[in-house]
Amino acid sequence: MRALQYRSIGAPPEVVEIDTPEPGPGQVRLRVTAAGLCHSDSFLMSLPEEQYIYGLPLTLGHEGAGVVDKLGEGVTGVAVGDSVAVYGPWGCGRCHECAQGRENYCRNAAALGIAPPGLGAPGAMADYLIVDDARHLVPLGDLDPVESVSLTDAGLTPYHAIASSLGKLRPGSTAVVIGVGGLGHVAVQILRAVSAATVIALDTDPEKLALASEVGAHHALVSDSSAIERIRSLTDDHGADAVFDFVGATPTLEIARAVVATDGDIQIVGIGGGVLPTGFFSTPFGATVRAPYWGTRSELIEVLQLALSGHLRVHVETFSLDDAPEAYRRLHDGTIRGRAVVIP
Ligand SMILES: [Zn+2]
Ligand SMILES: [Zn+2]
Repeated sequence: MRALQYRSIGAPPEVVEIDTPEPGPGQVRLRVTAAGLCHSDSFLMSLPEEQYIYGLPLTLGHEGAGVVDKLGEGVTGVAVGDSVAVYGPWGCGRCHECAQGRENYCRNAAALGIAPPGLGAPGAMADYLIVDDARHLVPLGDLDPVESVSLTDAGLTPYHAIASSLGKLRPGSTAVVIGVGGLGHVAVQILRAVSAATVIALDTDPEKLALASEVGAHHALVSDSSAIERIRSLTDDHGADAVFDFVGATPTLEIARAVVATDGDIQIVGIGGGVLPTGFFSTPFGATVRAPYWGTRSELIEVLQLALSGHLRVHVETFSLDDAPEAYRRLHDGTIRGRAVVIP
């Protein structure tokens, strides 16, 4: 089969021919119908050798959807032909966190060497994908895999962040979304669907601001220091009850700190590597700063429900597997509108 692999440090990923994998006991093989590209893929391919921990060669793709193609020994609960989405943050399935479906915070994954597909285990940018357990599959039903595959990360990750701030997003509140890329443009829609908050989106790119307005942001502002004054005045100087930073670089974190309300939340979702000074004289009284990771199994079911009920639509640009290296170049250059999806 074909697979898009990152094969040597610093080199671009390439499409190679490898053996089609067989599902072992308990595993499920999918014929991949769609695989999403993510900035974290670019991030890991930018790491120097001493910080790179994902193994080589690595088949990329941690957003996956497929049709069940072959069942390993003992697998129940899914049938050949089912259209499914893959829950990516695999855990041990047994610890206190996993028992709650919070496999993204599994206590044992690191010690047991369990890694998500595309981030250690072979990923979805291939003709076939091995999923380690049927519990990591969620039925897609009538949802189109190409339009919904990105919900497994670009939907689930913002949903998880928003869910933990939902108590603060009451009528009259304000939510700020920084960065209207793959995750940010879905975050705006989730906020509109699950809260009564006024949504203010920030980006440096006018096209992404237009996308923000298109998907429901009440205000779309250029992400610079003038945004701080605008947000202050739009909120009668109260500030934002929750700020979701999908960039996570020092300048955006500085905006987050300057606009968050007393007792508000800052959720650092982007992996831009910035650091936010937090403390008595740095952040407003009661403000919470959190760096959440991906989301839970039950939240993925909820995200797919939001899509089924028409509340979420991922804007996707599609590429063939052979064009996937070009898609990564475009992602790196920041010229993808919405999310890039590969169709093997
Ligand atoms: Zn990702
Ligand atoms: Zn666990």
